[in-house]
Amino acid sequence: MSQHAQKPIIIAGPCSAETEDQVMRTAAKIAGHSAVTAFRSGVWKPRSRPGNFEGAGDSALQWLQKVKKVYGLPTAVEVATPQHVEKALEAGVEYLWIGARTTSNPFSVQELTKALKGLEVKIMVKNPVNPDLSLWIGAIERIMKVTSAKVMAIHRGFYPYEQTPYRNIPKWEIPIELKTRMPEISIICDPSHISGNRALVPEVAQYALDLNFDGLMIETHINPEHALSDANQQLTPENLIKLLNNLQFRDQNVNGNVQNALESFRNQIDSIDSQILELLAQRMETTRKIGAFKRERNVAAFQLKRWKNIIRSRMETGYSLGLSKDFVRKMLQSLHKESIRIQSEIMKQQKDQEN
Ligand code: PEP
Ligand code: MN
Repeated sequence: MSQHAQKPIIIAGPCSAETEDQVMRTAAKIAGHSAVTAFRSGVWKPRSRPGNFEGAGDSALQWLQKVKKVYGLPTAVEVATPQHVEKALEAGVEYLWIGARTTSNPFSVQELTKALKGLEVKIMVKNPVNPDLSLWIGAIERIMKVTSAKVMAIHRGFYPYEQTPYRNIPKWEIPIELKTRMPEISIICDPSHISGNRALVPEVAQYALDLNFDGLMIETHINPEHALSDANQQLTPENLIKLLNNLQFRDQNVNGNVQNALESFRNQIDSIDSQILELLAQRMETTRKIGAFKRERNVAAFQLKRWKNIIRSRMETGYSLGLSKDFVRKMLQSLHKESIRIQSEIMKQQKDQEN
């Protein structure tokens, strides 16, 4: 997403600092790769429910100081309160990031600005949990008001209300829109929290680079299976290095602005299409459930009255959204045909069972 060819920012390290040994052993392996810009680690962990591991707390900051001293790696931690900011700065942390839950709450962001005022530390703002671009931009603006330091954004995906292979659905059109509205902001992608599963991380990371993101934040743990948080999505340092070596870094100067703009539109289309397909799959799954229900109660698959209502209400909604009535009718006919086919098949299965 950068206009200039710049070295991408690569931030890697565990979801949470658990022990000094885990932090130092992870850092030792990560530090060996020249692409790595900083070592990340959660120190205070926001958890959805109490009783889970809530981070090692203040003592973890000493381990991060040691990482910096021994391996020369700048460090990055999540801050959620002004006290976190003070403590992280005392420990010489160079990158602070605001987590998705904190960005979601303007009161918390406003509290944080008190501690960030006038600071020269780099600050990264993760997107809010819900796909609300104004909330994301609002948090960035609040911070930019109090500091002239570099403010960056982290795209970590959004809570999925629909069926999706991702833990947090990427909705790439949202960070693209952020870049369009705030071209001066660097955006890095967090493929770990988008994926929720380590197998998906490399392809999401590459996709982000193809979209010209300015860097990546990737959770890496010396022993991911036994991690105390986000065990499914963390990579071993070996797999992180493999991923970094296989990434295709784009030459951002080659394409020129027109090509970049065109690509950004195409990427929006790609993302929207995949969401349409996921929704269609969900619709057909529901159709199957209705089919089974009708079969049990001996109701015919095709119900004329219901179908007429569907056509009428959808055409009205589509029209109010700027779609042509003819297009909406044809699309519905095709959807309906497929639904009837699915339901008839379910009915047929019953007949086959009876015979
Ligand atoms: C994290 O980076 O470990 C984290 C808690 O992320 P998020 O705020 O994106 O959920
Ligand atoms: Mn995590």
